[in-house]
Amino acid sequence: MVVEMHAGLASDGGSKLKMLLTFVDALPNGNEEGIYYSIDLGGTNFRVLRVEVGAGSVIINQKVEHQPIPEELTKGTTEDLFNFVALALKSFLEREDDQDVKRALGFTFSFPVRQNSVSSGSLIRWTKGFSIEDTVGKDVAQCLNDALARCGLNVRVTALVNDTVGTLALGHYYDEDTVAAVIIGSGTNACYIERTDAIIKCQGLLTNSGGMVSYFFCFICSQYDFFMKCLCEEKELWCSKCSIHQVVNMEWGNFWSSHLPRTLYDISLDDETQNRNDQQSQQGFEKMISGMYLGEIARLVLHRMAQESDVFGDAADSLSNPFILSTPFLAAIREDDSPDLSEVRRVLQEHLKIPDAPLKTRRLVVKVCDIVTRRAARLAAAGIVGILKKLGRDGSGGVASTSSSSGGRARGQQPRRTVVAIEGGLYQGYPVLREYLDEALVEILGEEVARSVTLRVTEDGSGIGAALLAAVHSSNSQQQVPI
Ligand code: ADP
Ligand code: MG
Repeated sequence: MVVEMHAGLASDGGSKLKMLLTFVDALPNGNEEGIYYSIDLGGTNFRVLRVEVGAGSVIINQKVEHQPIPEELTKGTTEDLFNFVALALKSFLEREDDQDVKRALGFTFSFPVRQNSVSSGSLIRWTKGFSIEDTVGKDVAQCLNDALARCGLNVRVTALVNDTVGTLALGHYYDEDTVAAVIIGSGTNACYIERTDAIIKCQGLLTNSGGMVSYFFCFICSQYDFFMKCLCEEKELWCSKCSIHQVVNMEWGNFWSSHLPRTLYDISLDDETQNRNDQQSQQGFEKMISGMYLGEIARLVLHRMAQESDVFGDAADSLSNPFILSTPFLAAIREDDSPDLSEVRRVLQEHLKIPDAPLKTRRLVVKVCDIVTRRAARLAAAGIVGILKKLGRDGSGGVASTSSSSGGRARGQQPRRTVVAIEGGLYQGYPVLREYLDEALVEILGEEVARSVTLRVTEDGSGIGAALLAAVHSSNSQQQVPI
């Protein structure tokens, strides 16, 4: 993971880890005040949020409205999708009686985006079942701004972020030792705070002429210097030398390595889910870890068992149906602690149409679900340790020799406190997975270092964090401090 992180930071296309720039070089620190809005678009539901914050990391009020996205809009036109989103915000603002004020909007858009600035970026490709061809390559913040204008709203996107970045922002708002964020939900992804000088591929951008840069006055070092144009509209800025850190969106779901053992079942799953146009397999790490896939991996194992033995008797036809075992049911099977595994019996009977499986078979099914869960948790833990290692916070002290502020520790020193913000339905809804993940962290890091690492759940972090980032990056913000 660390090797691939370096490769992805060195050049675009250098690794299966995209290591996308986010242009987020300031995070909320608790001093933000006012009312901010955000929109969270990135899966089956979309959310509109209103967050009222006061100084001292106080969220005075928050309101979250969920709405499913109509299926036809995920395959229609760009304009229809964004009109739908803008109209949802409009009716939300009308109900809040708040539509006349100029507002900064955070936009959580959880698809891979090549950012041009903190408030703009073009869609690389749709994932998670969306396919609106004419959006690919377009600036999605501009698409939303246009739709907002069509609705007559005086609102503009001031922060376009990925869900991981929103989660990191909320984590950092509560606790400044938060250095990374991980999502374990339908999909999985991570972001972390990287030193600007380690992002080799961004140095070309900073020195590139061709309209990308111009001279501006740095409010930290008081020098005139090159600024990225997109960072300097309407706000105080700091120069590239003073910009010490930036959040990097790893897109770690696409991680792959020859060191990662791959089973028959992983290959079958990949075949089932492969987009026909893809030359090589996508999201390999995600397919071993996240909620969209774990149930299906277990289903593939059980299906083979049914074919090669008579453990399920004659009644196992349903096991040949892809995705018939969802991850919440896999979790329910694994978490059944009744002596006769009655919950396992119920799931087998009602959802897999396998009645009367004997206790011995039910035990076997539990074991399969356990193994699939354990592997997912341990891989996620290994990924987290990869980030810690890259930051020099894994206790080894050797890897991040260039990073002094966030670096390792001298002999005999206490390890530095580190917080990782974490969010997602699978992580939050499945205690056994959390347990295995914690166990693996201790196993890899050792008890002492593991004690210095806190995984903190940030409920609704992706949306609330985006609203806070809108606060930080809005033109009238007085509180920007580089991370
Ligand atoms: P998204 O990634 O679309 O924002 P969520 O973070 O809400 O979605 O996560 C939804 C995923 O979490 C689902 O794919 C589901 O498999 C998984 N999940 C939700 N609740 C549970 C649970 N109790 N046990 C196991 N998995 C769960
Ligand atoms: Mg989400």
